[in-house]
Formats: sequence, C-alpha cells, structure tokens
Amino acid sequence: MSATSKSYLAFVPRHTPSAHEVLAMIDHGDGPEAESLASFSDAPSATILASALNGYLLHQVTAERRLEVVLDGAPAPVRTAISALLPILAAATADDPAAPRVARQLPTVGDGGFLLFPTTNCPGQCEFCGPCRNDCVDCSECADGGCEICLPVTLTPRTAAVLGQALAVLADEAYDLAYRTGMCQDSVPGPLGAVPACVANQDQWFLRRYARAFDDLSSDLHVGRYPTPTCTAEEIALDLAIQDAERIYCDEHELVADLEAELPASRSDYNWDTLQDVLFQDKDYEGLLTYRVPLDPQEIERWFDEFGNIPPRDQHRGFRR
Ligand SMILES: [Zn+2]
Ligand SMILES: [Zn+2]
Ligand SMILES: [Zn+2]
Repeated sequence: MSATSKSYLAFVPRHTPSAHEVLAMIDHGDGPEAESLASFSDAPSATILASALNGYLLHQVTAERRLEVVLDGAPAPVRTAISALLPILAAATADDPAAPRVARQLPTVGDGGFLLFPTTNCPGQCEFCGPCRNDCVDCSECADGGCEICLPVTLTPRTAAVLGQALAVLADEAYDLAYRTGMCQDSVPGPLGAVPACVANQDQWFLRRYARAFDDLSSDLHVGRYPTPTCTAEEIALDLAIQDAERIYCDEHELVADLEAELPASRSDYNWDTLQDVLFQDKDYEGLLTYRVPLDPQEIERWFDEFGNIPPRDQHRGFRR
C-alpha cells in the first residue's frame, strides 16, 4: 500500500444514547483511525449496515442483498455516503489484499460461516413472478425462463458445508504427502487423490503451497464468499474438491447428516455440476488432473502465478500445517 492511499480495514457500529453511528476503520498508511460514516436513529440499522459493509469488503455472496435491505429505509445522506463508498471498497482488495484481514477477524454475532450463503434467490415479492410461493418451485413465470431474479442458488449453506469438508480432508492429504505423515508415510499419494500424478514427486515447498490452495479456498467459504481460484493450483484443488464433495454426498450419509444438522435445506442443494460451471474462469487446467508425466520446473512454478483479474491472497497468511 502506498503512503497516500486510503485502506478500509473494517466497519463497526457505535451506539450512544443520542445516535447510532457506523464508523469506518481506515488506514492512511500511518496506522488505523476511526471515521464516522453514517448515522441512524435506531441501533439495528447501524449494526446491520456495519456487518453488510464488512461483508462487502470480504466479497460475501449476500452482502449486496443485505445492503439493499438496510439502505432501503435509510436517510438520504446515508444512502449518498454508501453509494460513493462501494466502488472504493470493490477496488480495495485488489490494491491491498491484506486490508480485509481485520474484517475477517471480527467476531460475528449470530449467523456466520456457511449460514452466510443463501438458500433462495426469491425476494418474496418478485417484479416478474409476483408473490414467490415455495421458492417459485411451481412458478409458471420461472418455468418459462421469464424471471432473472428467482434463479437457483449456486452455493447453498449445505453445499458449502460438504464442499468445506472435502477441502479440509484433501488439504490434509496433501500436507501428509508434503511431510510424509499419516497415510502418506511411504511417500505414496493418498487414496483421495488430492495430489495429481504429474506433481506427486514434487518437493515439500511445492506440496505445502499446493496443500494451502485447499485451505485458501476453504477460507473463502468460511467468510461467505464463493471459493474463487486465484491461480492454477487453486483451480485444480477446487475441481478435485467439488468431485470429492459429490463422492462424500453420495457415499458418506452419516457424515453428511452431521454436516447438514444445523443448516437450512434449499431446493438448490448439491448442484455439483453448477459449481463446476460457475466457479472457474476457464477449464484450461483440466488436462493436468489426469496427466501422468512429471512436469518440468518451469511448468510447476506457473501453478502459483496469480491471475491478474482476481484479487490475490494475503501474502502473509502463513500455513495451517
Ligand atoms: Zn421467486
Ligand atoms: Zn418465479
Ligand atoms: Zn421471480
């Protein structure tokens, strides 16, 4: 970050007997500072706006929807201030990938993690469908493709939970191969196929970074954003995780029941093919999944080259194992 730039770290509500404000925590390059952003006469609006803005900073799937709800009844100066701020926040993580670290660490009240994903896109009262009944399951407007709003959800809470489980076990298998521990003590890739054949003979430094690709995608899920690959290694990790999530869903019924227990159901649950279509920019990496010849060192390093069009990961995030 340059000294002249302004980085938004997080948003918090501030409640006093006379007013309910939303404060922005800002870093001008010389340490954090609080700045008043908006003021409400009621406490919940300030709390919800701060939470939605943190969600926007973290690219949460439902952040815009939550912003719309709170801004709908907000005073005009608040709406003006927020509409000026959103484009700045949208660009912020690209300039300074470390900035959302603070928002990510804030304790959340109530819904968090996988519950941040929606179960439906139906607004209840839809401009095309009228009143949405039963998430538009028998809606003639939707059946005719006449509604652009009430579409199936890409990633529901239950889908996110099973995908999160797959990412966790595959990460551990890749770390096991890196450290020659667990099922990979004999330097043999594990049974889940976390590490493709063309890189199975790579050194520990490669394998640790590759294992971290699963963890990075998992961290996306835990803050309520789409798992978004930022490099080839993450594309491969995500593809394998979606495949493994489908296997878990089909084979491990007790585990799935445990994962589902606290999460609401959706008619869009477990659409694995949709995830393969929506979460990738292209499928250029696919050949590597089954390629058996060891890759040369130059090809290997390219696995971690950042895509220029996706905000990169925080360089200081470290390793889980
Ligand atoms: Zn609907
Ligand atoms: Zn409909
Ligand atoms: Zn609709």
